[in-house]
Amino acid sequence: MKVSATSASPVTCSAEAIVVAVRSNKQLTPAAQEVDVALGGVIQGLLESGEFSAAHATTVVLYPTAGVAAKCVLVVGIEDGSPEQAARISREAAGAATKRLASKQRNQVAFFVPFPAPASGVCGAMVGCTGQDLYRAEKKLFPITELLFAGLTDQQLVEGQTLGEAVNWTRELVNAPPSDLYPRSFVELVQATLAGLPIQSEVWDAPRLEAEKCHAILAVGRGSVREPQLLMLHYRGAAPTAPVLALVGKGVTFDSGGLSLKPSEGMLDMKCDMAGAATVVGAIQAIARLQLPVNVSAYCGLAENMVSGDSYKLGDVIRTRAGVTVEVHNTDAEGRLVLADTLDVACGQGVHHLIDLATLTGACMVALGRQVSGVFTNQQAWCDRVLQSATSAGDWAWQMPMHSLYNELISSPVADIKNVGDGRWGGAITAAKFLERFVGDTPWVHVDIAGPSFSDRSSNWLDGGASGCFVPTLIELARRYGGL
Ligand SMILES: [Zn+2]
Repeated sequence: MKVSATSASPVTCSAEAIVVAVRSNKQLTPAAQEVDVALGGVIQGLLESGEFSAAHATTVVLYPTAGVAAKCVLVVGIEDGSPEQAARISREAAGAATKRLASKQRNQVAFFVPFPAPASGVCGAMVGCTGQDLYRAEKKLFPITELLFAGLTDQQLVEGQTLGEAVNWTRELVNAPPSDLYPRSFVELVQATLAGLPIQSEVWDAPRLEAEKCHAILAVGRGSVREPQLLMLHYRGAAPTAPVLALVGKGVTFDSGGLSLKPSEGMLDMKCDMAGAATVVGAIQAIARLQLPVNVSAYCGLAENMVSGDSYKLGDVIRTRAGVTVEVHNTDAEGRLVLADTLDVACGQGVHHLIDLATLTGACMVALGRQVSGVFTNQQAWCDRVLQSATSAGDWAWQMPMHSLYNELISSPVADIKNVGDGRWGGAITAAKFLERFVGDTPWVHVDIAGPSFSDRSSNWLDGGASGCFVPTLIELARRYGGL
């Protein structure tokens, strides 16, 4: 998708469609006012008659035959929110506009919208017109060939486009069917896509994982004919002595639940169980493209959780790479096993701060709903930095407790710990307490993205399927980590 600047006025702009905005208090933005005058007051009329409410991210499309050069005018409502909501508001309004316009093929759409966060507006426009219909002959959404923006600087355009491409890449990886995207093909696809960027990659295949004592990753992957992989990506934008930010992603490319088999309806979406890994690769792509002055390493623990005569079993005891023994009480709690070894590898490489992203628990969705990620930490100062980045990047997140009393819930009579809590209660927290055992003293934040990373329905601004959530947050976090 091409992204460019336009210096035309909304009235004379020759793009196929133009986008103008009305604030949710029904106040026309300057460009909307200009178009309204040129069209004889039709926008005001729609507002006064109640045909258009101007509620946030709602749209109305006009097809004027005279008055403006464009054949199509889309009016979008944009919320007048607090400055800290600027990224979310911009992304949603822009996404709602392009999603509506993407119902047919369009070559050029020009935005005359005063986005409170311009780069997020560009990102939202790119994401809104990109759907999950990769395999449909009859598309539902047609990505717009060229997006034009009035009043944005070159830097804002580049940042927005980089962000939009990263989010769309993450979404595409998550939306890919599980028999196409498995650990090895994930590695190959990521390496091919990142080729040419200053990112060093290292891959551990099954024999290397064995040599490195990554028994937890291997146990999860053992039931599959697709062997597990550990993918490491290193970007060094700062001095070698500068601290390293580690982004760790759960990459279970398909989760059948293993012998603790999921019911069919719970299994259908399980191609999305690698969303954490897709999120960190999307983020590091953008971080490298933007040449942020920061050292970042991404770690993707990749495995397919399947059923076979060799699957790992309930009652098995796994000696993790860190030496902690884990009794398996449920083979569907596999993500934390994969992450246990992955986090240990990252810590062993001397990283300074950790953030892991994982579609980890249904319990987190029970607690927070489908749109908000759960955040857990072993160090409040680091967590505050992550939460501030999430807010300013427009991702919803909420911190959950990590009191020591939860530790009891994962104790095992046989091994050091077990891989689930006691019964159903506090399941998102016991999963986080499990991970905490593998990060030592390194400041760490765990983000449970089980809810927001994948949706079975569309919103006004985003097609169903993968959302790309937390890609913007990781990029913002890296920006701040580098002192920008
Ligand atoms: Zn599972």
